[in-house]
Amino acid sequence: MIKPDGVQRGLVGEIISRFERRGLKLVAIKVESPSKEHLEKHYSDLASKPFFPSLIKYMTSGPVVAMVWEGRGAASLGRQLLGQTNPTASAPGTIRGDFCIDMGSNLIHGSDSQESAQKEIDLWFPNGVTEYQLDSAKWVYEQ
Ligand code: GDP
Ligand code: MG
Repeated sequence: MIKPDGVQRGLVGEIISRFERRGLKLVAIKVESPSKEHLEKHYSDLASKPFFPSLIKYMTSGPVVAMVWEGRGAASLGRQLLGQTNPTASAPGTIRGDFCIDMGSNLIHGSDSQESAQKEIDLWFPNGVTEYQLDSAKWVYEQ
């Protein structure tokens, strides 16, 4: 999910490109201004953290772009593309390492495992995703 700062800074295309170029398949996407309740559910595992109220304020400060990308090991691959939670610890070449500085404005969310991805897909895309054959897959994966 591209967070409000990513949308406002005009980085939507740049971020989508990086997932696309890596060979992942886009199966769902939407622009949305989710409610506080929706985001509290999304980040429920962090509810006890001291930064939780500021995180929810940040995430409700503007629209986000929610996406589902598929591919072999997509969750861990996605996390590699993101970089570290703290952008100053993120390597150049990662999204956070290239475009941001502050943990409270770190541009993008990525599911941290296949299990959390499934939970988040159910939360954000209750009507499911669009399955299709990506023709370039035969050039991305060894045949
Ligand atoms: P992520 O999976 O890398 O996004 O990191 P987490 O799931 O641990 O935290 C969710 C989001 O909360 C992060 O992306 C940050 O925007 C924010 N966050 C996490 N830790 C901190 C912190 O220590 N301070 C602040 N201000 N924000 C934090
Ligand atoms: Mg997380």
